[in-house]
Amino acid sequence: MQLLLATRNRHKIAELRALLGEGYDVLGLADIAAAGDVVEDQPTFAGNAAKKALHAAGLVAGRMLVLADDSGLAVDALGGAPGVLSARYAQELDTPRPTDQQNNEKLLRELAAVPAEKRRARFLCVIAVAGLTARHLMAAARDVGVPWESHGLYTVALCPGACEGRILFAPRGRGGFGYDPLFVPDGHEQTFAELGEEAKNQISHRARAMRRAKELLESLRRMG
Ligand code: IMP
Repeated sequence: MQLLLATRNRHKIAELRALLGEGYDVLGLADIAAAGDVVEDQPTFAGNAAKKALHAAGLVAGRMLVLADDSGLAVDALGGAPGVLSARYAQELDTPRPTDQQNNEKLLRELAAVPAEKRRARFLCVIAVAGLTARHLMAAARDVGVPWESHGLYTVALCPGACEGRILFAPRGRGGFGYDPLFVPDGHEQTFAELGEEAKNQISHRARAMRRAKELLESLRRMG
């Protein structure tokens, strides 16, 4: 089965290839001419993932299934922030995209007065799978229990993944990226940046969403 992952991030493409194993031919946006960029302006992860997947589905005219992801950190004490703004959290008007360190420093400032027991947070990810409405996507989404939406010619199924945890008072660890040095997942004492890629990939929000997406693709394959 040929799939397009709507990203230019080679690491994400390799991760999806490894997870899906044999029988799937995964392409990236770099393999598609004139892909253009999509503005991620939706208020939810599902909205942004669906927008990216539907845009790419239009580019390939539904000739293959398209996957797109959106993810970020939601902190309870901040009403779910930074949320969909995770990558741009420390950005001011007219300043360039902030570094991970700037975002982490802002998060620590915002949480400075919040005690340990109120620092609950979760990483969230949604992988949207878009294809022509006639391709049984709705039936497969029902089969594996994930929501779906119809957008005219195309249908998009939304596969969620979450990883619960808490935010520390100072960064720890050198691995990973983004907010990893501040996030300790439930059931562990180490941060995502200390756990290492292999351990993180067992429990991460993205890995969990990808497993749901894999179930969906396998259900679609069974339907022929
Ligand atoms: P995107 O979905 O790749 O655009 O990620 C959005 C932003 O969320 C990233 O720039 C990070 O700040 C944050 N983020 C998403 N996933 C992770 C993760 O696994 N670890 C740390 N930060 C993450």
